[in-house]
Amino acid sequence: MQVIVGKSAGFCYGVEKAVNATIKQLESNQEKQHIYCLGELVHNKQVIQKVENLGAKTIENLDEINEKENVKVIIRAHGVPPKIYKEAENKKYQILDLTCPNVLAIHTLAENASREGKYIFLMGHKIHPEVIGIYGCCEKVSVIENEEDIEKAVQEFKLSGKNKIQILSQTTFSVEKFNKYITIIQEKLKDRKQNIEVRNTICNATKQRQEETENLAKQVQYMIIIGGKNSSNTKKLYETAKSKCLNTVCIETAKELELNEIKKKREVIENQNKEFKIGIMAGASTPKESIEEVKRSIK
Ligand code: SF4
Repeated sequence: MQVIVGKSAGFCYGVEKAVNATIKQLESNQEKQHIYCLGELVHNKQVIQKVENLGAKTIENLDEINEKENVKVIIRAHGVPPKIYKEAENKKYQILDLTCPNVLAIHTLAENASREGKYIFLMGHKIHPEVIGIYGCCEKVSVIENEEDIEKAVQEFKLSGKNKIQILSQTTFSVEKFNKYITIIQEKLKDRKQNIEVRNTICNATKQRQEETENLAKQVQYMIIIGGKNSSNTKKLYETAKSKCLNTVCIETAKELELNEIKKKREVIENQNKEFKIGIMAGASTPKESIEEVKRSIK
């Protein structure tokens, strides 16, 4: 049996930076500040447990903070809308801003486009925190999550009085869907094609991971995707792998592995005198330890 772990599996640099900086902050908290993570630091229970054990509290909004002084709020890699910075400032909270530079670059693009009077089509998942953050930087915007949203966005744009469009994307949106939706939008607005500016803001780490997942899934008979159940990039990896390898599972931890099922599949393949190959990929918020644990369990 061969187990192949994708090279790009696990923390991307944005998440790694945020996790390391948070741990460093918590370990050196000599001023005994009350440290809060605004939203889960990463979509991974073990990592959240680790930072909570070091003293951080995870909150969903700033109203949950009771202390009036000595408060530090950590902004995770997904970023937040500008109004959150203002709210924290008004409440005199310190901020440790760990928004990924790639996400900050999209905020700047959205703000500039809005200043130039452009209407924004933002491709992404409507309730994802990163999309909510970017949304807050736009003046006029429609979020396109699936094909059905395109017509609605086109109508909203036509009613807006704007005549230029800036297309942006959530950093972890599917490359395939992004390209497909651009073609549909350009077709629907073919008379104003020259007024549409496309900026593919899908992050390179995401592109690489999606491509590698697809290639790996083609080579193996069983594919394991590791990542949080509410992680957008993990879901996409699962869909990508499943389209190339029917025996694909998505798990958060090694405990969820169906070892008997893997054993049976292995027997079937080896009875055909072939080598059984398992591929492992992991979402951007999966630490190396979780990948190693899965590897150990199947060996
Ligand atoms: S996936 Fe890309 S944009 Fe998102 S945190 Fe990681 S490096 Fe940054």
